[in-house]
Amino acid sequence: MDKKMLQTLRERLQQPHKIVIIPHKNPDGDAIGSVTALCGYLEQLNHEVTMISPNEFPDFLNWLPLSEEFVIYDQETDKATEKLKEAEMTFHLDHNAFHRTGQMEEVLQNLNTFFVMVDHHQQPDNFADLTFSDPSMSSTCEMIYHLITGVGDAKLITPAMATSMYTGILTDTGSFKYRSTTPTTMRVAADLMDMGANSESINRKIYDVNTPSRMKLLGVALSNLRILPEYRTAFITLSQQELDENNFNKGDTEGFVNYALSLNDVVFAQIFIEKESEGIIKTSLRSKGDFDVNLMARKHWDGGGHRNAAGGKSELDMDATMEKLISILPAYEKELLQTAI
Ligand code: 5GP
Ligand code: MN
Repeated sequence: MDKKMLQTLRERLQQPHKIVIIPHKNPDGDAIGSVTALCGYLEQLNHEVTMISPNEFPDFLNWLPLSEEFVIYDQETDKATEKLKEAEMTFHLDHNAFHRTGQMEEVLQNLNTFFVMVDHHQQPDNFADLTFSDPSMSSTCEMIYHLITGVGDAKLITPAMATSMYTGILTDTGSFKYRSTTPTTMRVAADLMDMGANSESINRKIYDVNTPSRMKLLGVALSNLRILPEYRTAFITLSQQELDENNFNKGDTEGFVNYALSLNDVVFAQIFIEKESEGIIKTSLRSKGDFDVNLMARKHWDGGGHRNAAGGKSELDMDATMEKLISILPAYEKELLQTAI
């Protein structure tokens, strides 16, 4: 990490401040892990820290240290807004644009504070006073580790903070599987184990928490799987009715898209999940090798993300969304067929 920027941050953190830390909307393990780890660090430096999540996070993350202390913006809007207005510094973790915080965007745009971004997505917006942006990083949690050790505070990493950071690295690398997993990522994970992260226990709490209704919903998702071998593509749909019939809980569809991508010789997978309350279909895109779903999500699905994992949305109904997907694919045929895996 940039030494000069770390020095600026270090100096700013010398005096106690009112600080707000913010993950992206629909936060994942990396977002909640990085926010709680940074909170644990800043509290030791005697700052007054508030963690504000745009909306609720899935149950499989609610055991994380400090996770019970989040203020949820869409449930406690007045309290959250007040904290934001009082903030002398805000940290934006695992996102690089205000719009990734959903309804919080407007409040943020009118804030007069010191913004810090720590993020590993491509093409950051230019809103922060300090921008730590590195798309080559496996996760924001890995960046938080480099940030804390970079300012010379490795000794302040507690087992709870190590647990949070290990969790984000684990989930954002698909259990150390994606190409973003570097030798340094592995060394950071090993350090975090030395510092008190229990890998076996974290894995169990993240991955062995299926419910019967989630397993049934997975069955529905797999029966809706369609494979287009001519485009080395597979996709899954889930309608609101199918979600309702299987007692859908937030987070239940996490990872479903990976079943489509796990097919031999499929290099591109997409899942479409209807969200009637928002009038949209949320979509997640995943790829193998060099096939870039970040570009595809930006161009066609009003979203973005990383080369191999991106998200977005459709405002059409499910049938029209499927037609749109089918109409997009021919333009990518050559690239899909040439992708080496
Ligand atoms: P997921 O499919 O798991 O929701 O997201 C995969 C990746 O794409 C994550 O890194 C996430 O931050 C990013 N992402 C998901 N949805 C959106 C979106 O609507 N816009 C942008 N810019 N990125 C997204
Ligand atoms: Mn991340």
